[in-house]
Amino acid sequence: MSPAETENLIASIHAISTGSGEQHKEHRYGSRMPSLWWLLTSQKWIEIPINLYVLEHRDGLVLFDAGMDPAIAIDPNYVSSAIGRFFMRKLFRFHIGPNDTLTSKLQELGFAAEDVSKVVVSHLHFDHIGGIKEIAQAELLVSREEWQQLSGPHPERDFIFREHIELPGAKWHQIDFQPSNDLLFDPFGGCHDVMGDGTMVLLPTPGHTPGSMSMLVRSAGYPPLLLVGDLTYETDLLMNDQVPGTGDVALLRSSFAKVRGLKAQLPGLMILASHDPEADKDLAAVRAPDPQANI
Ligand SMILES: [Zn+2]
Repeated sequence: MSPAETENLIASIHAISTGSGEQHKEHRYGSRMPSLWWLLTSQKWIEIPINLYVLEHRDGLVLFDAGMDPAIAIDPNYVSSAIGRFFMRKLFRFHIGPNDTLTSKLQELGFAAEDVSKVVVSHLHFDHIGGIKEIAQAELLVSREEWQQLSGPHPERDFIFREHIELPGAKWHQIDFQPSNDLLFDPFGGCHDVMGDGTMVLLPTPGHTPGSMSMLVRSAGYPPLLLVGDLTYETDLLMNDQVPGTGDVALLRSSFAKVRGLKAQLPGLMILASHDPEADKDLAAVRAPDPQANI
């Protein structure tokens, strides 16, 4: 048991949604067809929430991802690249209201946008970074591998839009995963301790994008949690080795195996995907009763 598990350093963990969208069935569950084929022909849509996670740590409010910018639903030129706009319309439909901002969703939980001290960005896709313009003070953590995609010739073809990421004054910080004494993290080849107390440990889980990362959360009030971003869209798919319709299949399978290995070491581990519609309900259900509540 890590020291973090014996102390209640995280008072609450919530999933909040900055609107919802729809993705193709083949995107979520995979397909034998080439991705360009189903992208252009599929008529089967599945509703997904655009979630992010809010962790109320003793030393500051931490987000895992930053949700989507509602401007995407009303501004036809939100994405400046024509090819980016074209593929985005083929891949997603959005249902986002004007109040589906990060700021108003945090307010519903009783937090202010200014309270956010850090954001762990699982990967740089537009539906995970849209809220960063509302939290200019926050430190933004991204893996070095993910950040390198920005210097590629056409990041917009991979739904990485530089104009919403490289904001003036944004406090981006690139993570280099370090070796750990904890054997639990050996298969991942490195980790990064976000708060320096073991409560939030970042692990490289590439596949959805080359630099995608997950976060292991350990604190007394909850079972161990692994927030996996878009490594999978449903936990059962990862457990059954069913890869989605996009991403690098070999890397996805390798990361899936590492996550299943982690779960074998931590049997109570709860794995939460970013687009899991039940996430907030599931988190509320596993939260341990507050030991101070009846005093
Ligand atoms: Zn996503």
